[in-house]
Amino acid sequence: MRQLWINNHWSAAIDDATFGVIDPATEEEVGRVPAATRADVDRAMQAAQTAFRDWRRVPAAERAELLHEIARRMREHVENLAVTLTLETGRHIDRNRRYVLWSADVFDYYAELGRNDRGRVIPSVEASQLALVLKEPYGVVVCIVPWNYPMLLLAWKIAPALAAGNTVVIKPASQTPLATLDLAHCFEHLPPGVVNIITGSGGTVGDALVTHPATSVIAFTGSTEVGQRIAGLAAERMTKVHLELGGKDPCIIAADADIRTAALGVAWGAFVNAGQVCTSIERIYVERPVYRDFCDCLAELTAGLRVGSPFDPATQITPLIGSRERDAVLAQIEQAQAQGARVVAGGRRPPQLDLGFFLEPTVLVDVPYTATIMREETFGPVAPVAPVEDFEQALALANDSRYGLGASLFTHDPRKAKRFYEEIKAGTVWINDPLTDNLAGPFGGMKQSGIGRELGEEGLAEFLETKHVHWDFEMQPKPWWYPYGDK
Ligand code: NAP
Ligand code: MG
Repeated sequence: MRQLWINNHWSAAIDDATFGVIDPATEEEVGRVPAATRADVDRAMQAAQTAFRDWRRVPAAERAELLHEIARRMREHVENLAVTLTLETGRHIDRNRRYVLWSADVFDYYAELGRNDRGRVIPSVEASQLALVLKEPYGVVVCIVPWNYPMLLLAWKIAPALAAGNTVVIKPASQTPLATLDLAHCFEHLPPGVVNIITGSGGTVGDALVTHPATSVIAFTGSTEVGQRIAGLAAERMTKVHLELGGKDPCIIAADADIRTAALGVAWGAFVNAGQVCTSIERIYVERPVYRDFCDCLAELTAGLRVGSPFDPATQITPLIGSRERDAVLAQIEQAQAQGARVVAGGRRPPQLDLGFFLEPTVLVDVPYTATIMREETFGPVAPVAPVEDFEQALALANDSRYGLGASLFTHDPRKAKRFYEEIKAGTVWINDPLTDNLAGPFGGMKQSGIGRELGEEGLAEFLETKHVHWDFEMQPKPWWYPYGDK
């Protein structure tokens, strides 16, 4: 039984309640964690608020060393963390090793970025004055994370938040709290209360964190619906929100693209992590001259992908997070067929796997632009494809969405590439290499995909608040300012 991590101590929830965590590949319980209550949230917030008083004053160089030490400990524990992540997420063990290491890199990156400037000197109004623009930490940052990338999305938040001098209270998703709690071993060297981890339901713990008077920033990744609710509650206290939400990312295949390269790229972008990626490729628009060839190539590639255990080195497609989620994706596939789409690969649960929330990677072709599956987010391994008459039509369709998270294009034509990145309303644009992340590249969404950016310099700026200081050394009485004017 794992426990809550509050003020550098392990503790049970105040009422001792717990809940189980299920392995999506075997459907077995693989751990239990405390189901915290509002009273536990109060303890964690109190610890973080108290710790902030000193943490904000720790010299930047010292803080940098403490963050590098987090990264070092994560690399030391990579194997245990990756195994636990695999048990709770169902994602492939190789990818989880990579993600733990990459999460460690995020701490190293912000450790160094945090050493840099904290504002600037601006021209003062008079010669006897100094005018400063200061960048200060906010206070307690509440981090609420989903189950699809529990450690990476957490690192994207807490590394810059801590580097900026904030303290944090973390709430992992209820499906994936195990590795997050284990990560506390990588925070033991920090002063008490700087990092706190609390598990429990979104409706209880999440809501208590969002509405807590000591919360200065809410950094949330998850669904647009929950994000909208959080933004509404935050508005009541003017709490700063940072929201990374859902997406419906388009991909355009131009007529000049290399078809096999594009099909491989789309298979990767649509099926990695069984399609449970906010920036999954979810709508594919192919210029008519290459449409048939592309569909054939993608269907053939997809049919050859191997579905199975996340611990099997040969596995390419791992399970979905739960049976409810898998059934929702199956229902979306059925609805698409009813609306005119054809399944040319996958489309069902793999018959050879009795246990686990598996779903065959699925290619849908001739999908009408108005079909629900071209408009609503799909969190599963589904690639819906539609032909377009030309690039301009593809661009217009790509932008016709309430979401604006990522977008990708396959072309060697620089005119199409430039037109694409200038016109597309999306936070990340990939040309010929979809879903590649870059520590220095800001990540986030336009439109209803979110507010704010993670990673890069922008990712640090999110956790720093601006203050203007105007200082006059001479304190000269101002003639027009009664009662200090000349008597
Ligand atoms: P979700 O249902 O919105 O949950 C995300 C987190 O919010 C979980 O920790 C959840 O806790 C918590 N939560 C739920 N209700 C809450 C409430 N009323 N107040 C405060 N917190 C609450 O999302 P999900 O289904 O886990 O994840 C999938 C979604 O995340 C997709 O829409 C996907 O596109 C999006 N996503 C976006 C990005 C991005 O960077 N833009 C990245 C990854 C995923 P419980 O687990 O306890 O309910
Ligand atoms: Mg959800």
